[in-house]
Amino acid sequence: MRASRTIMTPHGALTTPFFMPDATRASIRGLEREVLYQTGTNAMVVNTYHLMLDPGVDLIVRAGGVHEFMGWTMPLVSDSGGYQVYSLIHKKSDLGTVTEEGVRFRSVRDGSWHDLTPERAVDLQVGLGTDVMVVLDDPRPVAVSKAEMTASVERTIRWARRCRNAYAHHAQEQSWTARNRPRLCAVIQGGAHIDLRQQCADALNDIAREVDNGFGDQVWDVMGFGGRHVDEHGVIMRDVLAATAQKIPQQSLAFGLGIGTPQDIVQAISCGWEMFDCVIPTREGRHGRVFLWEDDGKNILRDAMRCGTVPARGFYKTYDIARQAFREDSTPIDERCTCGCAAYTRQYVRHLFSVRDSLGAHIIARHNLRFYAEMMQILQEALKKTDLSE
Ligand SMILES: [Zn+2]
Repeated sequence: MRASRTIMTPHGALTTPFFMPDATRASIRGLEREVLYQTGTNAMVVNTYHLMLDPGVDLIVRAGGVHEFMGWTMPLVSDSGGYQVYSLIHKKSDLGTVTEEGVRFRSVRDGSWHDLTPERAVDLQVGLGTDVMVVLDDPRPVAVSKAEMTASVERTIRWARRCRNAYAHHAQEQSWTARNRPRLCAVIQGGAHIDLRQQCADALNDIAREVDNGFGDQVWDVMGFGGRHVDEHGVIMRDVLAATAQKIPQQSLAFGLGIGTPQDIVQAISCGWEMFDCVIPTREGRHGRVFLWEDDGKNILRDAMRCGTVPARGFYKTYDIARQAFREDSTPIDERCTCGCAAYTRQYVRHLFSVRDSLGAHIIARHNLRFYAEMMQILQEALKKTDLSE
């Protein structure tokens, strides 16, 4: 477990561990900036793949960068888009190809062809002006053969080197300073194989020592756990997460990409991860799934983390507001919550879902973001000033 610390980005400070909702297409559907700030959300993740297709990164550059475009003033992380492109190509091979140079894919929107190379992925993210950008990697489903996973790891390593070179080139060209420069995240692949994950992390650490990022740093700013964090049966791969995190230098942030449920985030923190993003609170919220604390949930979580363990029993629960059972339930969404949801009864919000008024989705998505923000605050407090050396 890593102690809580505060890091600076060009758009403000972030205290670890932190969670970022996914503003994939430069928005959290239906939620305005002030609403997001009020939930306690202070960083989000945008997706390069989606933004390069629509509205196009050139337009965002002309708008002054993605912060200006969105009207968002706090930190933003951009994902490289590699995961989306691979999912697309793995689903339908006529939608693109992967070569050593990069990936070539077709827009599902208008059929146009696009190229994404490691260098271009960095160029696009520099254009977006995000605070943390992610290298282009070569993710594969967890179930592929070890030989295929090894090939994925090897290509991920070669592409990470090219991304770091591209970053150094921009650092010089744009006269970035140590203070205003965006941070770069390398991605560790290897699926469920501990040895591959460790080899990948070792090779990435070698690259950080060999290739100057322009600031003399011998480490990556951030190192991410790529691919899925659960196995084919949906079970969290604790041993893989822990062994991989141990390879990440203390100066680098450990980013659990795409993690996840509250339970998985807590598990990942106990394995040494400290930065997370996921669509779950907002996407599931839009479908009516409400996250809330168990009666003594906050204390259960706080006490477990202070002892350096994961909670032995559930600290939160969920329910589906769209269910018929809430048709005449006049209790609030969550009577102890301060996000504003206590103003509405369950029967009213169920009704909104029933008549397909997006207000229902907004109320629950906002509530879930508040739940996640509260959870991260508790985790930050619990991980402060504690000796967590393992
Ligand atoms: Zn609420």
